[in-house]
Parts: sequence; structure tokens; C-alpha cells
Amino acid sequence: MRDEKHDVVVVGAGPGGSITARTAAEKGLDVVLIERNSEIGVPVKCAEGVSREIDKFVKIDYNWISAVLKGTITHGPDGSEVVLSVDGMDVAMYVLERRLFDKFLAQDAIRAGADVRVKTAAYGIIKEQEQVKGVYAHAAGEDIRIFADVVVGADGVESRVGRWGGIDTRLRLADVSTCAQYLMCDVEPNTGYGELFFGEEIAPRGYAWIFPKGEDTVNVGVGIGGEVSDENHRALAYLNAFARDKFPDGKIITEIYGAVPLSGPVYETVSAGLLLVGDAARHVNPITGGGILEAMHGGKIAGEVIAKAVQEKNFSKRRLMEYEKRWKKEFGRILYAGMKAKQLLLNLDSKDFNEFFHPLAGDIKIKEFTERALLKEMIKKNPKILLSLVRMMF
Ligand SMILES: Cc1cc2nc3c(=O)[nH]c(=O)nc-3n(C[C@H](O)[C@H](O)[C@H](O)COP(=O)(O)OP(=O)(O)OC[C@H]3O[C@@H](n4cnc5c(N)ncnc54)[C@H](O)[C@@H]3O)c2cc1C
Repeated sequence: MRDEKHDVVVVGAGPGGSITARTAAEKGLDVVLIERNSEIGVPVKCAEGVSREIDKFVKIDYNWISAVLKGTITHGPDGSEVVLSVDGMDVAMYVLERRLFDKFLAQDAIRAGADVRVKTAAYGIIKEQEQVKGVYAHAAGEDIRIFADVVVGADGVESRVGRWGGIDTRLRLADVSTCAQYLMCDVEPNTGYGELFFGEEIAPRGYAWIFPKGEDTVNVGVGIGGEVSDENHRALAYLNAFARDKFPDGKIITEIYGAVPLSGPVYETVSAGLLLVGDAARHVNPITGGGILEAMHGGKIAGEVIAKAVQEKNFSKRRLMEYEKRWKKEFGRILYAGMKAKQLLLNLDSKDFNEFFHPLAGDIKIKEFTERALLKEMIKKNPKILLSLVRMMF
């Protein structure tokens, strides 16, 4: 067993891990970012849609953008439509090429001074008393003890780092969306909008999506509630029916499966010497299932807080709690509101969903393409939503 020592070890080179590593390295810290896979960004388990707000965390580079979208079209169970776009703007969203995007973020971390290693998997936590002191990792047939003042679990939906460190990250079946997605080509030309489709028959306790990826290519996928997923209700079967209906002549070039945590944030994202970021912290919007921006935002806060902790040589839970306070303030409220709204939506059958949906049908223009702005606009158009949300809270 070989030993090494750093200021920070980040486990997982997704968007959350790379932004954490980049931010901490920019502040002069000695950072190592480890990724178990041999290629960063592969396999892609994502529909790749993000709001234009991504430019708050990274400079846009069209090398990793496969499509620019004007907005989204949401289809209710009876076919009524809500067209959502940004007031006065042609660009509301991007469809990423995550194969390249995730690599680009890791390269950014390297440019900032981080040491990035692929084929390096964490398999346990080093703890002394209650303080996390590093991780055990396996790389190229060698076992390594990577000591660090702070460990960051950015290891995605299947995260084990949190559990090893004593944080309860268990997910109930009902809090997971089971997804299947095809990358299809030879389909009708790009509509310029991402499309979401709701209805019990299309995706029970979930939805189907189409994100254009270029002239004749789309990500088409279905996510269904984990609690309804069984031998008779498989995400893949729903995807086959949906894809056949929408793109009868389309050709499948990639097939992927994945899970999205919809539980809302874990109860605690910090312990002594340990932080959880991104999907590992369940920082995913429970309504949309989107987690890329939340992972990047959380990663930025984590890197900044860790830099202060290193400067003060204080790695206690109390010191690192600044991370939790900040993410709660900066994007936590919308995740908690999303959980309430998710409960509201999941309790509606198709008929009730249509009733809920009809007052929203038509064009909605919002000032910024964020969940916060959307929720505000929805409440304006259908005040009953606010009433139901308030009832659920008390
Ligand atoms: C089908 C599907 C569609 C989605 N579509 C969207 C979308 O359109 N928009 C959106 O915003 N979000 C979407 N998401 C969610 C989004 O993909 C995640 O929220 C986002 O990737 C989270 O980033 P992350 O850095 O936290 O984790 P990840 O991107 O999952 O990265 C975690 C990394 O950790 C590595 N790792 C795990 N364990 C270890 C270990 N022990 N040692 C070393 N490395 C390890 C993994 O290999 C992985 O590279 C989708 C998810 C799915 C499944």
C-alpha cells in the first residue's frame, strides 16, 4: 500500500467534482481528483439539457454544445401545450455534448493546477476518531491511501463516499426515477425546442423527453417512478413505445440506462473532513430531474469553503457547515419547493393533471430560464398551485 497526502481529494470527475477541484486549485490548494472510469464523460447517462444559466459557472465553448434551444414545449396528457421561452431572447437552453463537456471541465481543473487521475476508484474512507482523513483507492493494480484534509464525495447517484463517512444517503424506490434513453439519428429536423411529455401511459410517475442534438439527431428518453418500475413496467418498454410513435424511422445509435435521485437534498451534506456535492448530495431538482447546474453550483461553493478551511487549518464539521448554509441559501429553497411541487404533481391522475395544466397552456415567457422564474410564472397563471403548495407545507 502506497501513501500520499494532499489538501483535498475529490472522488468523481463529473461536473460537480471537476468544478470543486477547479475552484479549490484556483485558490492554490493541492488537489487530486480521482475518477474510476478510464474516460471522463463516458458513458453519458444524461439527456444533456441545461439552462443558459450555465454561463455562471463556465465560459461557453461551442465545441461542447450540440444544440441551442429557444425553450421547451411541455405536452399535457390530453395534448395541450405550454411553450416556455425567455422574454426577448432566442437562447434559453443548451444541449451539451457531455462526452466532451465533462472532459473540458476536468481539463479546466488541470489548468488550475489539480492532479486528475482516471482508472482510480475510491473503495473506502480513512477515519481517525470521527474525522475523515482521506480515502482508500485502487489504481492500476495498486492500493493507495490518499490522505487529505478534506474529502469531497462527488461520486454521483450511486454515491458510497457519504455512507462510508457516516452520512445517510439511502434512497427509497419512490425517490428514484428509472430512466432509459436512446440517441437516435435519421429523425425529423431539429425543432429548436426541448420537449417534455406527461401522461400515465407515456411515463407513469415521470415523463418522456426529446432533446434535439443537431439537424437530425435527438436524445429521446423516458423516466418512470422507481416504485412503479417492475417486470411489467420497464422504462425501456415505455421508451420503445414512445420512440416508435415519435420517430418510426429513426435509428438508434446509443442506448443508456440511468437513475435520477428525486428525494431532495440529503439531511446533512457535511461531516468532519467530508463534503458531498452534486448527485451524491441529491442536489437534483425533484421536478425536472436536472442536476448538472446544481452540481456545478455546489462544487463552486464547496471549493471556496474548503479553501478557507485549509487557510484556517480547521476541518471540523462546524467549519465546513458554511458549505451547507451557502447551498441552502443559494439554491436549496428551490429544491425544497420542487419537492413539494413534485408531491403535488405525482398525486394527480391524468384528468387532474389536465385541469392543473390547462390554465398554463399557451406561450409563457420568463425573464430567466430558471425553475424559480418558472414556478413564479406558474403560480401567477394558476394561483391554485400556490394554495395546494401551502396546504402541503402545513
Ligand atoms: C437519463 C438521465 C438524464 C438526465 N438528464 C439531465 C438533463 O438533461 N439535465 C440535467 O441537468 N441533468 C440531467 N440528469 C442528471 C445529471 O446527469 C446529474 O445530475 C449530473 O451528472 C450530476 O453530476 P455529478 O458530478 O454530481 O455526478 P456524475 O456526473 O454522475 O459524476 C460522478 C462521477 O463519479 C465517478 N465515481 C463514482 N464512484 C466512484 C469511485 N468510487 N471512485 C472514483 N470515481 C467514482 C463516476 O464514474 C462519475 O464519473 C440526467 C440523469 C439521467 C440518469
